[in-house]
Amino acid sequence: MSTHEAHYELRCRECGRNWGNQPRSICDDCFSPLEIAYDYDALRASFSRERIAQRPPNMWRYSELLPLPAGFEPRLPVGFTPLLHAPQLAARLTRTKNDARLAAQNLYIKNDAVCLPTLSFKDRVVAVALSQALAFGFDTVSCSSTGNLANAVAAHAAREGLKAWIFIPADLEPAKILGTQVFGAKVVRIAGSYDQVNRLCSQIADEHRWGFVNVNLRPYYAEGSKTVGFEIAEQLGWRLPDNVVVPMAGGSLITKIGKAFRELIQLGLVEEKPVKFFGAQATGCSPISTAVKTGSPEIEPQKPATIARSLAIGNPADGHYAIKTIKQSGGWSEDVSDPEVIDSIRLLAETEGVFTETAGGVTVGSAAKLYRQDRILPEETTVLCITGNGLKTTDALAGVYESERPIAPKLAEFESYLQRTLDVAEVAKEAAVGV
Ligand SMILES: *Cc1c(COP(=O)(O)O)cnc(C)c1O
Ligand SMILES: [Zn+2]
Repeated sequence: MSTHEAHYELRCRECGRNWGNQPRSICDDCFSPLEIAYDYDALRASFSRERIAQRPPNMWRYSELLPLPAGFEPRLPVGFTPLLHAPQLAARLTRTKNDARLAAQNLYIKNDAVCLPTLSFKDRVVAVALSQALAFGFDTVSCSSTGNLANAVAAHAAREGLKAWIFIPADLEPAKILGTQVFGAKVVRIAGSYDQVNRLCSQIADEHRWGFVNVNLRPYYAEGSKTVGFEIAEQLGWRLPDNVVVPMAGGSLITKIGKAFRELIQLGLVEEKPVKFFGAQATGCSPISTAVKTGSPEIEPQKPATIARSLAIGNPADGHYAIKTIKQSGGWSEDVSDPEVIDSIRLLAETEGVFTETAGGVTVGSAAKLYRQDRILPEETTVLCITGNGLKTTDALAGVYESERPIAPKLAEFESYLQRTLDVAEVAKEAAVGV
């Protein structure tokens, strides 16, 4: 398998050995994970705010800081999702009028619920991984997935003319399964947890010459997550926030946002300042958050039981580094129950018009706790990472809204319906104030 000349290469995170460019994720010398190292000195002259500003609004505007093969031509405008002010949500996360006013100016949502093409931040990682899959000569790409990765690999593979084999736990949300099959991918449902699916994929990768985006291509894949961090900084006017709140599954995204901020500082694109990293998990699958709370440097694997399936990884591959990122920044990690996830999905939708999936409910619910604990202050610039779209997990809201009997298409019918509805609202209001 050929290695290509590039301004980046694989390097062991622990022993520092270089491994060139090849489909591999573990150092054979010390069995630690590999990551991509760049020649920053070579980049400093050519990579500037002005250069970036002239480029189209998508994640490829940061190409120099991504491990892309020479001559790579992007075929999809992935990323550059909106960074939204969230004043109404801010009012609901704070206690006093003054806090609400302060937070309204400083709370943002990074809205990857509308990331193209498959409505989650996983499009970013897959876009980078598949560029390398092509360069390494794979004709089949694959992944183990909690849902969104499956959607993204299937869609990008269709676009690139690659075959796709997708491995998922059998109990995933129907919309995520259908949203993979529709692209012509082969979906293999496994009767087991994500962690068992992932182990199986490692074994398959040893037997078949396939590009597994989160196994043998994992170091390349993970770099795509940095673009969330680059965009947050650019959209804040080339400024780092005080806090970011990030949902965690394998723990890769939170560490890569950290790497992105460090790279921008190193290249002189933003001023250095402390940023606190806050992790968010579902209580039913909270190995990283539990380690942070108990002060343990290592993960104790869990058996997931939560509606937040996209985050249900009981033995997170980057858990150790996620803990480190959080602790070294002075941040914290929180977790929320399934009912809190549902309430938080509704809160974000009702206050800001953003419909997120269960992972976004985890983020908003955790942020609410962090504000209440005064770990996040209203005057601090805070970004909540909303990573996926609510239309993919509508089953989580099944039973929340009753389906009313239809009324006849007659004005009189509507007027009496309106009166009944107002009466019910009035009774509810009186009950609430205890009249
Ligand atoms: C995969 C995923 C995450 C977490 O990603 P990691 O990098 O594995 O921690 C967060 N949100 C959504 C919606 C995801 O699909
Ligand atoms: Zn090593």
